[in-house]
Amino acid sequence: MKKKIVAGNWKMNKTFKEAEDLLFGIADALISGRPDDVEVVVCPPALYLELATDVATEHDFSCGAQNLSEHEAGAYTGEISAAMIRSTGAAYVILGHSERRTYYGEHDQLIGKKILQALRHELIPIYCCGEVLEEREAGRHFQVVEKQISDALSGLDADAFSKVVIAYEPVWAIGTGRTASPEQAQEMHAFIRKVLASHFGEHAANDTTILYGGSCNAANARELFANPDVDGGLIGGASLKAEDFVKIVNSF
Ligand code: PGA
Repeated sequence: MKKKIVAGNWKMNKTFKEAEDLLFGIADALISGRPDDVEVVVCPPALYLELATDVATEHDFSCGAQNLSEHEAGAYTGEISAAMIRSTGAAYVILGHSERRTYYGEHDQLIGKKILQALRHELIPIYCCGEVLEEREAGRHFQVVEKQISDALSGLDADAFSKVVIAYEPVWAIGTGRTASPEQAQEMHAFIRKVLASHFGEHAANDTTILYGGSCNAANARELFANPDVDGGLIGGASLKAEDFVKIVNSF
């Protein structure tokens, strides 16, 4: 079912004490006012998930991980499984983020496996897709995103797909301060919905939550979220300060 979501991706930031302060800061800021129909999702480093879900349960927000292993369990040193993440009370997991694709060589086939693993353990995948600058400049952005969606998602059945959230994150906008214009975001989100309709039918496509990510902040969120196909945001840098993050939540 389509929802409005504002999710914060903390990436590899914050020590334990800083994470605690940020979580309670978000909780306090949310108490002062928030729209009823927006789901707030905080994705800290996995190490802090249990703490985060404790605060989240008290303050009516959700938590997610930033990655998981494609394996179920066993001899995979350093990895974290879907079952472990779920057992902390987390509800979401970001998968296919461009930083995982670029720095850790994750490709659509592996990400597809991770999506299945998330769904098997009742975690909602936030599947990230988006083109790099050269692809946009060469006019290949639609083609690139269509392939990312088809390769990672087309094997899902309708029921499994209905749980998936998509995040369109043009790589040239991530952490660069260069946001996609509201028109560019709307154009790509509408295109993604068309691609989803071709795989899963119009109804399922219209029910899918599609978030925008890439230098989304308190100053530009309102304009981005005003578009009919933009259902919220995946926020990196601006999710690291409670006040900024909650301003974005209140931009709907
Ligand atoms: P940014 O990151 O908001 O710092 O650009 C977004 C993301 O990577 O999810």
